[in-house]
Parts: sequence; C-alpha cells; structure tokens
Amino acid sequence: MTATMSAFCGWCGKSTDEGVHELCARRLALVDPPRYCAECARRMVVQVTPAGWVARCSRHGEISSAR
Ligand SMILES: [Zn+2]
Ligand SMILES: [Zn+2]
Repeated sequence: MTATMSAFCGWCGKSTDEGVHELCARRLALVDPPRYCAECARRMVVQVTPAGWVARCSRHGEISSAR
C-alpha cells in the first residue's frame, strides 16, 4: 500500500480527487496518525505507541509509523 496511490485522504477521509489536501498531507507528514483508511475511508482505530502509532482498518489491517 503506497500513500501516493491512495484514493482517500488519511486525514479528513475525503476523496483525494476532490478538494485540496495539502494541509492534511502536511499534518500526516508530521507525527499525526491518519484517521481514515486511504483505501476505503473507514475510520481507523488509532493507537499511539512509544515508537509512533498504529492505525487499524477493520478491512485492510494495520499500518504503522514504524517499520
Ligand atoms: Zn484531506
Ligand atoms: Zn480500509
């Protein structure tokens, strides 16, 4: 899963085709975890960990800031 090909904004949950998500991308590029799944726009369960964060979509599984 690559961030550049995502269909939905991970911050506001709207389609990346419409609107401007520059601010969203800027927030996501800092320490803020995404709130919405980039593939289905479902709201994700976000856990902040000592290493960063883990966000879980009920359909697409987990993504995290750390590798
Ligand atoms: Zn956005
Ligand atoms: Zn998903």
